[in-house]
Amino acid sequence: MRSTLYNFLDHFSSIYLKRHSSKLRVLAYHTVPDNVKFEEQIQFLISEYNIISIDTLQLVLNGKTQLPEKPLIITFDDGDFSVYKKGLPVLKKYQLPAILFIITDLINTQENFWWKQIEKHYQDQGKTYLEARKKVNSLKQVPERERQKYLSKIPPVEYRQLSTEELEELSVNRVAIANHTHTHPMLNNCSNEEIEEELNQVQTRFEKLTFAYFNVFAYPNGNWDHRTEKLIQSKGISVAFLFDHQLNKKSLNPLRISRIAVNTDDDLPEFKVKVSGLHSRVLSLKKSLST
Ligand SMILES: [Zn+2]
Repeated sequence: MRSTLYNFLDHFSSIYLKRHSSKLRVLAYHTVPDNVKFEEQIQFLISEYNIISIDTLQLVLNGKTQLPEKPLIITFDDGDFSVYKKGLPVLKKYQLPAILFIITDLINTQENFWWKQIEKHYQDQGKTYLEARKKVNSLKQVPERERQKYLSKIPPVEYRQLSTEELEELSVNRVAIANHTHTHPMLNNCSNEEIEEELNQVQTRFEKLTFAYFNVFAYPNGNWDHRTEKLIQSKGISVAFLFDHQLNKKSLNPLRISRIAVNTDDDLPEFKVKVSGLHSRVLSLKKSLST
């Protein structure tokens, strides 16, 4: 059903791309479980789009240069080990730039992401995945102190996180290491002091990693609001990425760069529809029809 739908929509994706070819597309990936499918996607992107780096985007935002036609940026959130293991060889092969938004508290550790910690805890108690995800979602809506308190009470879960050396290797191969906070809280649930502390911690870690981009930021979970935007700007963030499944408008707001969520294991028709921007149009149409 899903693939039939995307095969059908794919007929329109190239038309949609032509009509919106000058708009910046930013892809938001997380993991790379399947490097074969990822390479297939990359080959498609090379054939259809101009993949640009964060450095080029910053020049554009500073009025020093212009975007090429069909501009596209590749990003990865959270710094999963698979991005290094399976993603980097593909990016390297085609010499493509990308951005990796890292959670600095996890660098050089064996600790899993906090949502995975909860999933494992629930599994160990014989509870379902759905129940675990409900808990994760509920913790995305409570004050930051409550999230921390809950996490401190459940057992840690081992996971291979990226090391400084691996981040450096990514960096010399055109993957910019950028800011995704220190512990991945929902910024809208944090006090001003908590946000400042998060960014201070990132800054301290990044000062040791001379290659990292502190000023380039992605909102954890995409949770954005006016207060946090002002605050992160005052702390030195000059380019911030959302998670709103939209194409960018022609005039870019450096602190609100839209991104489209994609998966490295999406089948090609589904991937093409998502990247074209048609997918987000269909989604918003569905939403407006249902409300
Ligand atoms: Zn994230």
